[in-house]
Amino acid sequence: MSRMILLGPPGAGKGTQATSLIDRLGIPHVSTGDMLRAAVAAETPVGLQAKTVMESGELVSDEIVIGIAEERLSEDDAQKGFLLDGFPRTIAQAEALEGLLSKLGVELDCCLALTVDNDAIVERLLKRAEIEGRADDNEETIRERMREYDAKTAPLLDFYRSRGRLVEVDGMGTIEEVGERIKQALDK
Ligand code: AMP
Repeated sequence: MSRMILLGPPGAGKGTQATSLIDRLGIPHVSTGDMLRAAVAAETPVGLQAKTVMESGELVSDEIVIGIAEERLSEDDAQKGFLLDGFPRTIAQAEALEGLLSKLGVELDCCLALTVDNDAIVERLLKRAEIEGRADDNEETIRERMREYDAKTAPLLDFYRSRGRLVEVDGMGTIEEVGERIKQALDK
């Protein structure tokens, strides 16, 4: 497995699992959230456009996100593989990714989806808000991010299922337990 998407609602533990997966698989971690936060911090034109949208918990426009993802995936180190975290988040982004991969002459190996229950997620996010102090982690924006996920990102489950690429893993439990499940699911 070298070309993967990690999918799941905010707070499902994608970032944490991504860190151990990239170590094990030796592929770069491509997080559009991290790239957008860096752009906001550096006050680039993209960052200035994305800032308020991100703070409200809404999704940044497909145009902006597809642009930064395509740029990143075209870099040398991504040619051997990548782990996408937080992208795609809409059907339009998934279609753009398909187009890009076919242009690069490669195929997606799998979309690994972490399944969790919503109440547990909100609790996790509130805890993370305390620890990291992220501007998009207060209760109101957390709920908005959930709504965005349900409305725009959850349809990606069917998108990748219909392409025979979906691998679902129970995301509840300790970091180690979920990590072990992921390992087993990918070894199959
Ligand atoms: P994340 O760190 O992945 O939770 O992303 C933080 C925020 O960045 C999200 O709530 C969105 O506002 C924005 N963002 C990150 N990735 C995307 C994406 N693929 N599409 C749209 N917005 C995104």
